[in-house]
This record gives sequence, C-alpha cells and structure tokens, in this order.
Amino acid sequence: MTRDVSESIDDYCESQYGHTNWAYLSTLSKKELKEFNKKNLGVIEGDIVFYWEKLSSCDFCGIEDNVKEYFITHDGELYCLDCFRERR
Ligand SMILES: [Zn+2]
Repeated sequence: MTRDVSESIDDYCESQYGHTNWAYLSTLSKKELKEFNKKNLGVIEGDIVFYWEKLSSCDFCGIEDNVKEYFITHDGELYCLDCFRERR
C-alpha cells in the first residue's frame, strides 16, 4: 500500500517546521502569492509552499489565514480583525 502523497508532505512539513501548514503552489491565488512573497511567509519547494508558521485561526468565526497581521491576540484568544472590531 502506498501512502497518500499529502500525508508524506504532512510528515515532512511537521519534521521540518513543527506544523502541517503547507499548500500546493497551484492552489494559491495571485493575491495570496503576492502576500507570501511580500511578507516572506515561508519557502517554496518545487510545487509546494511551506509556511514558516502554523495557520492562524480566529477563535470566534473560525476564519483561517497565513497572514498574522489579520489577527489580534487579546486575553489569550485569537481574533480576526472583524471579530475584534465587533466585540470591543
Ligand atoms: Zn473572526
């Protein structure tokens, strides 16, 4: 039995970066790719993008993004900017 390719990439990513936050380059939008390059969010190896950090996820609405500037930590909870504005 061969393992799913994505599982092998998960393992590799976990061992290299301590998380499983990666994506196929082809799945990134132009905007995401621009952010990736501009903010130096990670490294591209072949057709796979490995992020330096794990994916940030809002504790309230569950939205996820790799751009840390879109999130605010407050009282130990992670807010996206929209939820933070609404709850303040
Ligand atoms: Zn939110």
